[in-house]
Amino acid sequence: MKTHKNCPICGNNKLEPSLEVADFFLTQEQFHIMKCPNCGFEMTQPFPDKNEIERYYQSDEYYSHPHKKKSLVSLLYEKVKQRNLKYKFRIATSGLNQGVILDIGCGSGDFMEFAKNKNWNVCGIEPNALARNYAEQKLKIQIFNSLESATPHKTSFDVITLWHVLEHIENLNEQVEAIKKLLKPGGRVVIALPNPDSYDAKYYGKFWAAYDVPRHLYHFRFKNIREFMSKHQFRFLKREPMKWDAFYIALLSEKYKYGRQRLLSALIHGIISNLHAKKNREFSSNIYIFYADL
Ligand SMILES: [Zn+2]
Repeated sequence: MKTHKNCPICGNNKLEPSLEVADFFLTQEQFHIMKCPNCGFEMTQPFPDKNEIERYYQSDEYYSHPHKKKSLVSLLYEKVKQRNLKYKFRIATSGLNQGVILDIGCGSGDFMEFAKNKNWNVCGIEPNALARNYAEQKLKIQIFNSLESATPHKTSFDVITLWHVLEHIENLNEQVEAIKKLLKPGGRVVIALPNPDSYDAKYYGKFWAAYDVPRHLYHFRFKNIREFMSKHQFRFLKREPMKWDAFYIALLSEKYKYGRQRLLSALIHGIISNLHAKKNREFSSNIYIFYADL
């Protein structure tokens, strides 16, 4: 296991305990969430290093898998997924006609497939070999296994997307610098993150499913992601909601808290979360768009 010595955003080396959270998804192990008293950024302590990380991802639920049974729930899930892809694509490419997209942490390639069907050129990065091979065969494109292996393609991309990925990445500062080099001049980065300032985060507390320790190393608030990107010369453009996430996260959080999926309660708290966020913009998850400030 590894520990964060400094805050990756402001560099402060005194971190304070903020919350105790368990890995409800898989191992039930306990972790701390530490807070930087200077800038307020929160991170998971300790966190798995390269040799241990696989153990925490060993569940096929974590990767979107293609051979699901056609139950009512899976059909509904499929419907929501398609709508969500359409929405994500619209937000990520708004104001652009065509270009090249790099999807970092592309999984089995659903977003790339959608973008490809809209006549965008697509490219992906995925460390999980199973998901990567599946996506490569389906889309007939090259997918890199890491940011490092994509470096020959510098200044190649108009849009780089990270859909719930940045919170999983170690060495944040190095990685975002690598991302910056891959962008075309004036290109944009689209980052989706869970929001610890959302109503559902506050309501479910340590049972909030989007803490997802230790897979989530970092827990970005709006202020945190803005400061972090600004430090790397990215200019903030806008944030957009991910309204479905409130329901999905509420459903999982209910399961973690009560041991079963209480559908109605999840539905109600998903709705309340979105209503609150309509006023204060603190949705369960947000999409942030940044430009490389050249
Ligand atoms: Zn800090």
